Amino acid sequence: MAIKAVRGVRDILPVETGRWQRVEAAGRATFEAYGYREIRLPLFERTELFARGIGDETDIVKKEMYTFEDRGGDSLTLRPEATAGLVRAYIEHGFQVEPKPVRLYTIGPMFRYERPQAGRYRQFHQANVEALGEPSPAVDAEVVCMLMDFFRALGLEDRLALHVNSIGDAGDRAAYVARLVEYLAPHASSLCGECQARLGRNPLRVLDCKVPECQPVIEKAPSILDSLSAASAQHFDHVRGYLDAMGQAYTVTPRLVRGLDYYVRTTFEVKTTQLGAQDAVAGGGRYDGLIERLGGPADPGIGFAIGLEREAALQRLMPVARAARRAGVITELGYGARKLPRELERANKLGVAYAVIAGDNELAAGEAVLREMKTGEQRRVPFARLADELQALRSQEVSA
Ligand code: AMP
Repeated sequence: MAIKAVRGVRDILPVETGRWQRVEAAGRATFEAYGYREIRLPLFERTELFARGIGDETDIVKKEMYTFEDRGGDSLTLRPEATAGLVRAYIEHGFQVEPKPVRLYTIGPMFRYERPQAGRYRQFHQANVEALGEPSPAVDAEVVCMLMDFFRALGLEDRLALHVNSIGDAGDRAAYVARLVEYLAPHASSLCGECQARLGRNPLRVLDCKVPECQPVIEKAPSILDSLSAASAQHFDHVRGYLDAMGQAYTVTPRLVRGLDYYVRTTFEVKTTQLGAQDAVAGGGRYDGLIERLGGPADPGIGFAIGLEREAALQRLMPVARAARRAGVITELGYGARKLPRELERANKLGVAYAVIAGDNELAAGEAVLREMKTGEQRRVPFARLADELQALRSQEVSA
């Protein structure tokens, strides 16, 4: 029998590579315009780098790392994210003597043992951008604007929303976590099993649980913004002031805490705005303290990661949705937040006439599956013809 690729790992086929190259080129052009230089990092590091850098109690370190012992008996890990390795390189090569901030970017694969589903892989790709050594809130705003400029270069910014938050310094967060636990403890029985476990281990993570039963509790949780010290609050005010001055729209989302322990103060995420599609396409934040924690100088840092798979999929589906909408077809993107049966269930509830299904195989083949919801009949349609096809079906429906 022929051997197949590992679950959650995929080939990027020639029909897709053009799109990947465009996304990467837009990234390089945008980052370099802001003075960032490329650094290429190894795909594996010593396990302790991630344990110490990302945090022992995070989901990534506890459950998602590909860790192995090499023949020499060293514990090594395929990188689940880029910041820890980049900071290691910053320290190892003495970057701290360069003019600050030291601006670096890197593009490449990451590895996480997560449950594979649409838009989530075990080997996936990120573009990572980091500004090291500069504490000013102006850099936070610059980094965020650069991220949005990248999406603008790809023509995607209309469909994306920027969420920003401040999670304060370590002391602010300790005070907030105490308040949060006090609030959550009496509601523990209304939380999902995973959140009940998080309550003891990493209570902040309860805030970004996606399980519906947890939402009513999460919605009423105290806001971390009320626990900020004067210095953290002022930093966040300045970040917002700079964003406003640059005309960058954003939403302040106090529940945005991110999954890695090293973040302090500013955190941000970019999400698709399509109804029901809560998928993050990029996220980042400030990580003052990380460089020191990894044995380097007390230099601050800030950066973000863009998920390139999600970029590539958006690039394919959003133009179709837009063309269909322009042609008067009411269109909603689900975009991989749910498994297919759940997505179809949702489509049924919404009462839609046709569903367009595009998974990895369809994207690779340049076709989508067009499904008539009433009959369950399906056929394949090339992406280039999809909008026209939907419009034709729509006019039949209207005239019927
Ligand atoms: P994180 O490093 O978890 O903050 O993730 C940053 C971005 O990487 C996310 O917004 C996603 O777009 C992307 N990403 C994270 N995990 C995965 C995954 N397993 N598969 C595909 N993309 C991912």
